[in-house]
Order: sequence, then structure tokens, then C-alpha cells
Amino acid sequence: MIQPVAVIGAGPFGLSTAAHLRARGIPVRVFGEPMVSWRDHMPAGMLLKSTPAASNLDAPQPGHNLVDYCDAAGIPRLVTDEDIIPVETFTAYGEWFQQKLVPELERVRVVSVDRKADRNGDRSKGGGFELKLDSGELFTARAVVVATGLSGLAHLPPELAAAAVDGPAPTGPVSHSSQHHDLSGFKGKELIVVGAGQSALETAALAAEAGANVRIVSRGHGRVAFGAPPWQQPKLRPESPFGRAWSLWALSYYPQPYRYLPEQTRHYLVRRVLGPLGAWWLRERFEGKVQVSEVERIVRAEPDGGAGAANGGPVLTVATPGRGTQQLTADHVISATGYRVDIAAMDFLGHELRTQLAVSRGTPKLGAGYVSSVPGVYFTGLPSASSYGPVMRFVCGTEFASPRLAKHLAAAHG
Ligand SMILES: Cc1cc2nc3c(=O)[nH]c(=O)nc-3n(C[C@H](O)[C@H](O)[C@H](O)COP(=O)(O)OP(=O)(O)OC[C@H]3O[C@@H](n4cnc5c(N)ncnc54)[C@H](O)[C@@H]3O)c2cc1C
Repeated sequence: MIQPVAVIGAGPFGLSTAAHLRARGIPVRVFGEPMVSWRDHMPAGMLLKSTPAASNLDAPQPGHNLVDYCDAAGIPRLVTDEDIIPVETFTAYGEWFQQKLVPELERVRVVSVDRKADRNGDRSKGGGFELKLDSGELFTARAVVVATGLSGLAHLPPELAAAAVDGPAPTGPVSHSSQHHDLSGFKGKELIVVGAGQSALETAALAAEAGANVRIVSRGHGRVAFGAPPWQQPKLRPESPFGRAWSLWALSYYPQPYRYLPEQTRHYLVRRVLGPLGAWWLRERFEGKVQVSEVERIVRAEPDGGAGAANGGPVLTVATPGRGTQQLTADHVISATGYRVDIAAMDFLGHELRTQLAVSRGTPKLGAGYVSSVPGVYFTGLPSASSYGPVMRFVCGTEFASPRLAKHLAAAHG
């Protein structure tokens, strides 16, 4: 029997990769909940920061862009840089893409992936992989594509984690932004949102619109700022999916040489390029409605504030440049502090396999075609950003990644 390729993940990267593999006639089994990060782990009413041109899931054949979905669904076309995409529309687009191009998707979890042992029981050389599904099924795949995106990688800074003794939770003192879909429960509440990126600023604006009294706490270099609208961007700089700038243009269209940059530079750029900056259209919904505390650092967070807390909620002690420390109280703190790739957190990868993967600061080191140091194991999306650059953190990264990954895999395992 021909062994299929396993694609783990049904977000933009998993679906796009699967579509490319299928188009090459490679048998695939695709696992995951379609578009679950967008449907359940982002706030209702959110608008995408990316423009329509930068929000297509790459497909091997024409007719599967966002605008094609708009036509098929009979809704107004989202085309220009001024057209803003509601998260609900984008989620529906991804589900439509899945139904058309990856109809055999299996909505089950992969529980474990291990290298198959050879005749002598040696797993370090054997060809193929053993996968276990949460349905109980065991099967062998000739190659594995890890496209698990944001799942399990939510990052809480240690000083906030200390106040979330039982882990971050919407019902506890501290949560992560990925744990909130409906912000209406914060009506009438004092809310602190930590972070200065789009996710933090938009969560804060949506909570304020829902009737919460919201304060953003931005730390270190993360000053609150908003991008320029498309019509105010300098015309002499080249266009990219993220705006007009030479650096963005190079990173968007030439991710190939990124792998050859020094390790420190690669990790720095992934964190900093396209870093904390609110979308141009968010400014007027934010300013005057959300309070802002720009602090040097959070010194500590206490879950119930002890005697210092007026309302018994969490208390943040923050250091402010030139003004010493200050205490900020709230009913709840949302940490909108993003995601960190760490192979150790991908617990579905068997221990032995994880120890065989070459990593750099917890992220997989990838070669040409997105292959890891273990032949047959590929990573795409967020975990590939330290090898292929910040564009892999965004949907438009599928355009570069998916055809190249599929081509490499077809040549090596087709
Ligand atoms: C608040 C917020 C706003 C964003 N806005 C934008 C934007 O405007 N534009 C943009 O381009 N990007 C945006 N992003 C980034 C965007 O979310 C990612 O680029 C994109 O979702 C990554 O897609 P993915 O396919 O890699 O992973 P995801 O979309 O996270 O999908 C992960 C998939 O893996 C599956 N999975 C996980 N573990 C397993 C397992 N063990 N077994 C089986 N399946 C598994 C899940 O079910 C899911 O299907 C935003 C991110 C956030 C947090």
C-alpha cells in the first residue's frame, strides 16, 4: 500500500500545502480543525491587519483567492488596500478553500509522531513515520508536514505567569489573548491589556467598545504606534504586502537567502520586523478610548493584589522611566504578548524525534524546501519563520512556502 504524506494542521499553511501536494498527485492525509485559530482564538469582530492582496491562501490553480470567495459567497468584493477584512469573512474563506481543495480533511488530532523503526528496531535511520491519532488509529506516513501554527505556543512573560498560578485563564486573574473570543463579558470591568502589537491594541479597542474600562500596558521598546494609511505611504519605495519599504519588499519576495543570515540577526528580525504597530484604521477607535501606560518593565504581578488592591483583582507593579515604580490595578489582565516557537512545546512530536531535530533557540533549523534535519519532516508557517523570515508569520507566506515545500517533498518522497 502507498504510504500517504501526513499534513498536521488545517489553518492557512496546512490547507495551502495540502492543496499543492494533492495537485502533484501525492496522496495526503490532512488533520486538524479548519481555521480554528481564526474561529476560536481571535476576538469576534476583529478586523485583519493584512490587506486583501496579502490575505490569499496560495493554491496551485487559479480561482481560490479571497476575491473568488467573495464572488462565490455573493458578498462585496474585498480587493483594494482600503478594504478591511472581518475575521468572520476570512474564516469562511478558509473553510471554503478547504471544502474545495482539501475535501478529505480529517478533523482529528495527531497525538504522536515518531520515526518508524528499521528491522533492527533502530528509529534513527528508519524510513517513514508512525502517527497516532486521537481516534486511536495508528498509521505510517512517508513524510510529515508540521503546520500546527499558533497551537500551543501562546507566550506569557514570566512576570505575568507568576500571577497565573494555575495557568492563564479567562476566569483567573491573568489570561492570554488567544483565550478570548467574546470580549463582551468585560462590560463594566477594569481591564489591563499587556502588549503593544495589533492584537493587544485591537483587543483593547474591542473591549472598550464592549463597555470595559481598558488600559494598555506597553513595555520596553513596545511603544503604542499606528501605521500610515495606504494613501500616505511614500510612493518612491517598493510595494510589499505589508506596506512600502525596501526592507519589507526584500523580506516578502526574497525569503530564500534569509537562512544564510547570522543566527542572531534572523531571530532579531523575526521579532522586530513587522513588530508592534497598530493598523492605520484602528487609531481613531483607540485614541481617547483606551488609557495607555508606557512602562520600562513589569516588576511583578500579584494575582489578588494583597492589601494594595482596591477591588481584590490583580495588581501590576511597573517601573516607569524617571518615575520609579507604580501600581496598576484591574479586575483582569490579558497578556497579548504573542507566540513563541518552541519544539519542546510541540508535545505531539515524539521525544526521540524532537531530540533528533536540529534547533536554533527552540525553533527547527530548516533547509531548502522547508525540510528539517530529519529527512521527511517539514515545518511551515510560524515555526519556519526563523529560517525563512518574518513573512512566514503571515498568511501571504503561503505563496512562497507551499509550492516550494511541495516541490521538495515530491522530489524526495514522491
Ligand atoms: C490576533 C491575531 C491576528 C492576526 N492577524 C493576521 C492578519 O491580519 N493577517 C495575517 O496574515 N496573519 C495574521 N495573524 C497571523 C496568523 O494567525 C497566522 O499567520 C496563521 O494563522 C498561521 O496559519 P497556520 O496554518 O500556520 O496555523 P493556524 O492557523 O494556527 O492553524 C493551526 C492548525 O493546526 C491544527 N493542529 C494543531 N495541533 C494539531 C495536532 N496535534 N493534530 C492535528 N491538528 C493540529 C489546528 O487544528 C489548526 O487547524 C494573526 C494572528 C493573531 C494571533
